[in-house]
Amino acid sequence: MHDRDCLHRFLFEHYPIRGHIVHLDASWRALLEHREYPSVIRDTLGEAVAASVLLAATLKFEGTLSLQLKGQGPMHLMLAQCSDALGVRAVARYKEAEYGRDLASLSGEGSLTVTVENEDLSQRYQGIVPLNGERLSDCLRNYFETSEQLPTRLWLHADENGASGLLLQRLSDDSVQSRAAGSLHEVNRADIDDAWHRVQLLGDTLKPEELQTLSDRNILRRLFAEDDVRLFEPAPVFFRCRCSRERVVGMLRALGPEEVRSVLAEQGHVEVRCDFCNRAYRFDSVDVEQLFSQAVTPTVDASERRH
Ligand SMILES: [Zn+2]
Repeated sequence: MHDRDCLHRFLFEHYPIRGHIVHLDASWRALLEHREYPSVIRDTLGEAVAASVLLAATLKFEGTLSLQLKGQGPMHLMLAQCSDALGVRAVARYKEAEYGRDLASLSGEGSLTVTVENEDLSQRYQGIVPLNGERLSDCLRNYFETSEQLPTRLWLHADENGASGLLLQRLSDDSVQSRAAGSLHEVNRADIDDAWHRVQLLGDTLKPEELQTLSDRNILRRLFAEDDVRLFEPAPVFFRCRCSRERVVGMLRALGPEEVRSVLAEQGHVEVRCDFCNRAYRFDSVDVEQLFSQAVTPTVDASERRH
């Protein structure tokens, strides 16, 4: 097997069109290790994870790209996140039910949200579209068609063994002229329109099993044999949860001493499990007291209360 757990970028030499191919294998299985999902939910989650990597790779940013599906259906929430370093994590929340493979039956009415934010949340971009189409890739197509972004298409496939995706994106028309100007003949707008249309039709001919099993070089050969395509060095993709004891402490402090102490009284300890990786963070009575003694804010408040 070639090109596992990596992202490959490629570029059409004669047109302002670029693409990415991603495969998650060990990283996908690591992500699934702590969770049992019904197969249709698992596969949709895999598609969302592959899509989050493909989209994150189109951006120059430091932070996290999140792809979130929210709906009224049995799968009411799905969240896939990819960092600028291509670390992924994801979770789905659902009720047991009879559901089909299509989004309408899984998520029902709802929305798809793409959020890009940096680590300290000082910069944020968010785009939202209604959930529609049979699959996530249809919904993403709608997202790109209705938002002010570069025209972009995605093809996605996932099963228990892996999650894979292909992205094609049309760049601004002048980007090809400025690139290696000397060797290029003039490319006019109509030629670029034709090429963009053609590469999408070719993308549509890629079978899911080809996307999953062929090497990236062979996928490009299979689809774009007529074109001059430059393939760049791959970048590794991995599973990484960003949870930490500090974050859990912050969350417990936000809940407040009353709430946390009542859990402590009931259970003898407080345990918080990470939704993404299932890691447990445990706090005994000493920990809980410490949590709130350190959190006592301005002495002014304390003295005011005393008087
Ligand atoms: Zn975690």
